[in-house]
Amino acid sequence: MMRVLARLRSGLAALQWRDFALAYARCPFCGPSIFVRINRDETGVRCLRCAASAVHIAMGWALSAQCLDLAQSDACEFSARGPLVAYLQRCARSLKVSEYFADLASGQMRDGVYFEDMQRLSYADASFDLITHTEVLEHVPDDTLALAELHRVLRPGGYLLFTVPLFDSENTVERAYLRDGAIEHLLAPSYHRDPLRGGEGILAFRDYGRDILARLRAVGFAAPSLYVAPQKIPWISHSRIVVIAQK
Ligand SMILES: [Zn+2]
Repeated sequence: MMRVLARLRSGLAALQWRDFALAYARCPFCGPSIFVRINRDETGVRCLRCAASAVHIAMGWALSAQCLDLAQSDACEFSARGPLVAYLQRCARSLKVSEYFADLASGQMRDGVYFEDMQRLSYADASFDLITHTEVLEHVPDDTLALAELHRVLRPGGYLLFTVPLFDSENTVERAYLRDGAIEHLLAPSYHRDPLRGGEGILAFRDYGRDILARLRAVGFAAPSLYVAPQKIPWISHSRIVVIAQK
């Protein structure tokens, strides 16, 4: 409990006592649990046992729906801590974790955490049975390069599961480009909260639409699909979507 409260410390600044609530529900990572809501924002809902957010919980349901044999899976996740990492550490045969630091090269380490640039991974071809990431791809300047790299390091038959903010539109809207090391904005810059770096947050290069599936097919994924997570999280009325692709 103390550990979870410590994790929620940054969120406590956003605590609205009149919205504070507890509810019983099932967490895909820890089973029967109590959920806490600290404000009306979706990001204010957490599993009290493992601190999983709505995004993590959708990933958890998507993972269990795939019936993957995690005990026989070498996994790769593009964050270094949090409930999804803890779950994969517990259940997968092996797990590589990494974070993104703009000033390092893939495979380098800082404070005990490996760096990986999704556009130039340090991993060998066919290294993993499962790759996961949450709310990362929209921040990668060249997502075609990144998806091709993820395809390269997956084993044949391996799964890629991830979330991005997915908009109810046919086409992805490009918001910015990286050209010769400089960012060119096509639309007003949109920054997403970044617990690792703080500040103004991290730039979203695009708002994804349903054509994200075509982007996956273009780099070689055969039948990518959108998994609609069941609405099992208290207070959250809409379903979250997880992108699933198999090599
Ligand atoms: Zn949990």
